Amino acid sequence: MNVREEFLKFFESKNHTRVASAPLVPDDATLLFNNAGMVPFKSIFTGEVPRPKNPRATSCQTCIRAGGKHNDLENVGHTARHHTFFEMLGNFSFGDYFKEDAIAYAWEFITQVLHLDKDKLWVTVHESDDEAEELWKRHIAADRIMRLGDKDNFWAMGDTGPCGPCSEIFYDQGAEHFDGPEDYMGGEGDRFLEIWNLVFMQYEVKEPGGERIPLEKPSIDTGMGLERVVAIKEGALSNYGSSLFMPIIRKVEDMIGKEYVYASGASYRVIADHIRTAVFLLAQGVNFSNEGRGYVLRRILRRAVRHGYLLGFREPFMHKLVDTLVDIMGDEYDYLGKKAPAVKEQIELEEARFFKTIESGIALFNMELQNTKDVFSGEVAFKLYDTYGFPLDLTEDMLREKSLKLDSAKFEVLMQEQKSRAKAAWKGSGDDAVHGDFKELLEAFGTNEFVGYETTHHASKVL
Ligand code: ATP
Ligand code: MG
Ligand code: MG
Ligand code: MG
Repeated sequence: MNVREEFLKFFESKNHTRVASAPLVPDDATLLFNNAGMVPFKSIFTGEVPRPKNPRATSCQTCIRAGGKHNDLENVGHTARHHTFFEMLGNFSFGDYFKEDAIAYAWEFITQVLHLDKDKLWVTVHESDDEAEELWKRHIAADRIMRLGDKDNFWAMGDTGPCGPCSEIFYDQGAEHFDGPEDYMGGEGDRFLEIWNLVFMQYEVKEPGGERIPLEKPSIDTGMGLERVVAIKEGALSNYGSSLFMPIIRKVEDMIGKEYVYASGASYRVIADHIRTAVFLLAQGVNFSNEGRGYVLRRILRRAVRHGYLLGFREPFMHKLVDTLVDIMGDEYDYLGKKAPAVKEQIELEEARFFKTIESGIALFNMELQNTKDVFSGEVAFKLYDTYGFPLDLTEDMLREKSLKLDSAKFEVLMQEQKSRAKAAWKGSGDDAVHGDFKELLEAFGTNEFVGYETTHHASKVL
């Protein structure tokens, strides 16, 4: 079953207009990346731009959650259901239908198109939402409806923007596979798998921490994770076991000659996740850089490379996964195939850059581990960052594996000191972006220390 296509067709049959996925970099300065299907429609919800002629839309939106309010980077590899890049299926009502139809459509799609087993379905509503609970009772037994608080059942795009109470649909994958105290709806476990969020868009927040202002026309925004549904349909207990990820994992297995086993396979999953994010960002024109979105991209690639190193790779390998990804997703996103040659080259260069220093960096890290009781030195973390190109979150990722903390206060101090030094050296330019690129040039020259005016001069010529 092509879940993506079935979803869009279903909502077209309910008079929704199919809208193409918007770019990952949103037209919205408050957001790092597009993190939900509603983002491209934000100003329609708030009434800032007129509603389209047809007040119903459906889309499959590419999303990234690797920073800001919705950040799943730390979950990747460790849960069965989180990715940094994923596709969100959604249906939207701009002041047209509200709770009643949103719930009825969702139930119809899940039971009559996806044919999910009703005995495995659960729903949650906001603790204050009697209306949603009553509406759900038309479809599902009352004891399968749970009430949860703001943490789980109030949805907001970010610190500002449209928001509202929501109702979520969960699929019980069976106690025999998952257990543990954390495994409940809304918890960290994977047994009760959240598949679909129906947001009853009723408010707007204009400033961070500001009050919730009722929207003139309540609307509907829903989001269903494609990867989770595909996994359920294919009988996989983890998204990574589905046809969207397994070919990438198999390719990694082939290259390194070691079999993927779920329990010890976090590194394979991180790589399979991160290659998708990297390829989509690069194909859409985001480049590796030392700040902003390009730095998120760099951090993600370097994390993947470090996991590759753990598996035994000692030279660039990520770029060899690009074709596998194009095989999986190139039909739906034809720009992937077109950009693949350039993307491979960019990835290989970035990998090579990091492979140059990763060995010494890891050696330094391991040496410092021997001096560490509970808290890892901020100085060493800074040296890893500054000299060996280990982004802070990468070092933190390594420390988490050892259940150690970091002296991040010290790291911050050193970081600030370096920034002021750099500012002083760059009085003439005063442009942070230039500083970022300059640093990259120095990296390419194999040193990170300020090497005087000759290099500076050279750098400014190149720039
Ligand atoms: P979770 O509780 O599992 O972290 P969420 O409540 O943060 O999910 P929503 O913001 O409600 O997710 O997004 C709507 C849907 O998008 C979710 O129900 C899920 O199916 C999917 N989804 C959310 N985050 C991810 C992710 N990181 N990777 C894959 N799918 C996701
Ligand atoms: Mg989440
Ligand atoms: Mg949730
Ligand atoms: Mg949710």
